[in-house]
Amino acid sequence: MTIAENKVVTIEYTLKNDQGEVLDTSEGREPLVYLHGSQGIIPGLENALTGKVVGDSLTVRITPEDAYGERDDSMKQEVPREMFGDEDVEVGMQYHAQGPDDDMIVVTVIDANETHVTVDGNHPLAGVHLNFDVAVKDIRDASAEELEHGHVHGEGGHQH
Ligand code: ZN
Repeated sequence: MTIAENKVVTIEYTLKNDQGEVLDTSEGREPLVYLHGSQGIIPGLENALTGKVVGDSLTVRITPEDAYGERDDSMKQEVPREMFGDEDVEVGMQYHAQGPDDDMIVVTVIDANETHVTVDGNHPLAGVHLNFDVAVKDIRDASAEELEHGHVHGEGGHQH
């Protein structure tokens, strides 16, 4: 069986930036299980996995365009300090906010003083080249119910 649309795929992975820092890894945790073709993982990684079989290992470098997008400076915004009320606002804190398309986005505080807070709505991995080491551990057909829901059920997936 090869990886294709509507297959449930189990992978182990390590993600590094171009400096070699580990940003994320399945090592020491459960492997990642996802439904191929349902945008459960970033497009660049999904494309690289198409056609692979169990036992395959691959190293793939993904441009921001095929991952979390380029950084967009218009996503940075300075807002009045009083919008945060009595809260202690510190650099690095994250909040949910309404994005440009009315969707909820996560913003990160990048600067804070007594009168203003600067938040950045870019994804933390926007503008970052992603280097994945991936090993394919399992491939199976998705069930009709999984296809209907657009996600994986059971081990590593939704429990419902
Ligand atoms: Zn479901």
